Amino acid sequence: MARVIAVVNQKGGVGKTTTSVNLSAALARIGQRTLLIDLDPQGNATMGSGVDKRAAARTVYHVLLGLGEIANIRTRAERGGYDLLPANRDLAGAEIELVELQNRESRLKSALGAVENEYDFVFIDCPPSLSLLTLNGLVAAQSVLIPMQCEYYALEGLSDLVGTIKRVRANLNPNLEIAGLLRTMYDARNTLALQVSDQLEAHFGEKVYRSIVPRNVRLAEAPSYGTPAVLWDPESKGSQAYLALAEEVLERERVGRAAPA
Ligand code: ADP
Ligand code: MG
Repeated sequence: MARVIAVVNQKGGVGKTTTSVNLSAALARIGQRTLLIDLDPQGNATMGSGVDKRAAARTVYHVLLGLGEIANIRTRAERGGYDLLPANRDLAGAEIELVELQNRESRLKSALGAVENEYDFVFIDCPPSLSLLTLNGLVAAQSVLIPMQCEYYALEGLSDLVGTIKRVRANLNPNLEIAGLLRTMYDARNTLALQVSDQLEAHFGEKVYRSIVPRNVRLAEAPSYGTPAVLWDPESKGSQAYLALAEEVLERERVGRAAPA
């Protein structure tokens, strides 16, 4: 069965989409069958995967509303080597339409059940909010990957997110766990970043990934070429970090599975 990981942080611009795209491509590169679900109406993961969001007739919106199945709507991110369930502005309306429907928090989970065994990893790139869309991501997932910038308010935001994860665990998805915290856009010359990073390790210990993603312009440039940075410029410092993270994610996964229940 696939390992389903939601990439979540209610803050925008922390690297959720960059992480989703590059981790999907990096794991595909080392032979992992991977599906990336774009769950943000902005459709950045879709565009960054080289798929034109405006040309996507059917998207994750149709899946959530029960108007189509993932197997018929997913497409191939050719350069990235993974499958993509695209998103575009249609999804912005889903939030309101879902409220009327039954099992509104678990619609993605139900849909994923039909294709899950075709993959080793499924990543869900969530929007910058703790909305019904993100809730669908958290219910469908087994674990949460939290990208964060090491800045002053980051820890405060993190406690809100941890609270949400606890509520989801109590009510909707008892097995949900934190896969890991990822430091993104990291600048080791910044004293505050070092302090926040230390606090993060003190609080979350092993949950903090050893791999750290530096601020690197190649990661920001790659989306405009519709190619994940790890393929477009694999030697760049940013790509190297995501390639290392993929190994770390895989390693944790193997250790997790080997551990007795
Ligand atoms: P989110 O999905 O959390 O909103 P993004 O992944 O879209 O965040 O990143 C926000 C912006 O920062 C984008 O323009 C992206 O290209 C850029 N970016 C992301 N990670 C890095 C990084 N490590 N170094 C430099 N720019 C980055
Ligand atoms: Mg995003």
